[in-house]
Amino acid sequence: MTPIQPKRQYGYERIERELRLLYEVSNAMRTTLKLDQIFYIILTALTSHEGLGFNRAMLFLVNEKENVLEGKMGIGPHSGEEADRIWKGIEMAKLSLEDLINSYAKFKKDPESRLNTLVKGIKMPLTEEMGILALTILEGMPFEVTTEEAKKMVSPEIQNALNTEYFVTVPLKAKDKTLGAILVDNIFTKKPITKSDIRILTMFANHAGLAIENSRLYEETEYLSKTDWLTKLWNAGELRKRLIKELEETRIQDGTLSMLMMDIDNFKPFNDTFGHQKGDEVIRKIAFILSKRSRRDDFVARYGGEEFTVVMPNTNKKVAGIIAERFRKEIEETFESSDMSKGVKPLTISIGVSTFPYDATDMDKLINRADIALYEAKKTGKNKVCLYAANLGKGFLGFIKKG
Ligand code: GH3
Ligand code: MG
Ligand code: MG
Repeated sequence: MTPIQPKRQYGYERIERELRLLYEVSNAMRTTLKLDQIFYIILTALTSHEGLGFNRAMLFLVNEKENVLEGKMGIGPHSGEEADRIWKGIEMAKLSLEDLINSYAKFKKDPESRLNTLVKGIKMPLTEEMGILALTILEGMPFEVTTEEAKKMVSPEIQNALNTEYFVTVPLKAKDKTLGAILVDNIFTKKPITKSDIRILTMFANHAGLAIENSRLYEETEYLSKTDWLTKLWNAGELRKRLIKELEETRIQDGTLSMLMMDIDNFKPFNDTFGHQKGDEVIRKIAFILSKRSRRDDFVARYGGEEFTVVMPNTNKKVAGIIAERFRKEIEETFESSDMSKGVKPLTISIGVSTFPYDATDMDKLINRADIALYEAKKTGKNKVCLYAANLGKGFLGFIKKG
């Protein structure tokens, strides 16, 4: 590989360029709230020659729950070349910030991005013994590894993984919290990292920290708005949104989509006897079974208090019925073998199945048909799966036999 020739810039020219970069990066970070896109903007700005021109840049974030530091993204010379083209284009006003975000899609798919894979595999306990990277977080300050002495403080994990000689780390801070750290090096050019590099890097990291925090809060709020607090399943609003999208796709592909509507049997007497907290436990347990047993493309939602929905793309009614029966059976056995419902009517589940486009061609009708089938299951004895059919309730038996 030919070494990258660094640009030589001093004094005001350099400061002016740095400020311009800081301005561009802040703008770029404002164009998106997606966390991984923000990482990409940060790291391309650090590695592009038009940016700060480091050979490699890596980003690590603290996982507070597990008290570990996790590698999130790494950009080296390979993807750096693309970054270079983009940032140069932005400086010359030939490319927009949107182009930068779009180039992220390319980076994500890039199989040659070995450094990125490597960084993403790093996970280490957040303790002092783990060396410089952990210390950057714990102390909340930059570290320069520029001497043999300092090199001894680098954890073997980082040393082996990154094969880096000298490098600099800076903390990513938001308000009074350290969220993670950035590590940069010049492994190929061996260009020394100067005090002035560290100064701009620190300024840069402060902006980046705030952008990461904002994006995280946004992603968390967005997640909470789509999910149900008790079960962590998707909520009814999200169900409708996804169902509209799935039906659209199924229509285009001339495909089939089935949905299950479920309702817990005899739940009121259970609640009345054991209280709502025990009832919530039942709801959580059923949600867990549905999530665990559903297939990758299925979409499980809590439709109402004790009602659940499973949307099954590319699934005909027969298969949907078989899967529904599996759910029913597992739920029946789960509560049979636990003593949770001793003394009251058994806790089981009734399921109605409807299929697009045979039973309905729009979402509301499809939900309504599944409801009709569910009602039929309840009316005819509960703890069963009923498939919707146009003549349901008029002598047609659309049931799946138990056992
Ligand atoms: P059926 O077999 O016909 O479904 O009878 P059911 O007793 O289950 O009656 P229904 O489906 O009308 O159940 C509604 C009951 O579900 C009322 C309430 O006690 C309980 N329920 C609804 N949402 C919740 C919830 O979030 N937590 C708890 N613990 N109970 C709930
Ligand atoms: Mg109900
Ligand atoms: Mg019920």
